[in-house]
Amino acid sequence: MIQNTIENECFFLSSVTNIRSLPNENLNEIGFWGRSNVGKSSLLNSIIQNSIARTSKTPGRTTSLNFFEVPKKIRFVDFPGYGYAKRSKIEIYEWNKLILDYLGIRKNLVSIFLLIDSRHCLKKNDILALELLKSFRRNFFIVLTKIDKVKKNDLDSCYNNIYNIIKNNKFANQKIFFTSSKKNEGIKELKKVILAIK
Ligand code: GDP
Repeated sequence: MIQNTIENECFFLSSVTNIRSLPNENLNEIGFWGRSNVGKSSLLNSIIQNSIARTSKTPGRTTSLNFFEVPKKIRFVDFPGYGYAKRSKIEIYEWNKLILDYLGIRKNLVSIFLLIDSRHCLKKNDILALELLKSFRRNFFIVLTKIDKVKKNDLDSCYNNIYNIIKNNKFANQKIFFTSSKKNEGIKELKKVILAIK
């Protein structure tokens, strides 16, 4: 069944810290981006259904672009998170440069899932990320994470807040996902869209 192909076949391809070491462009790629601690690794694990995207804070992995591949279908690209206060300006500059270079040159990058923690909704850095995606003319989806932690009213107002910001952005897909990796909510829907993107 096609729905199962992601988790059964997905494997870790490579970890890239230098833009010259990117894998070939033979497969479409979907980027996963957001603030550090937004729940990116957990969401990737839920999609892949194993632990290769690890939810730990392994230092090396947070500083690189991590490629996961479903052979002949698609790649997921785990971006370094932003807003990680405990790092030096030089390190942050280097991670951001890697992301900017990737966004700038990658022909097979078809979409980006920008993860927003529904407990905090949009923060300054998230707005900057949105502007950056627009300036690179990159199609993206907003994915709200950790919805199990938030009351319905707060979730609604977060949704409205985001919707009003993206509604006139032609690179934003108007579909906003509501997810919880903990409760496995919204994951099936996300996978469906992923499989339709490729
Ligand atoms: P990353 O830094 O963006 O990769 O975030 P992680 O996936 O490592 O998650 C950061 C923290 O949030 C961890 O303590 C996770 O257990 C927690 N977390 C992630 N997703 C969820 C979720 O859907 N619900 C809840 N309640 N906690 C979550």
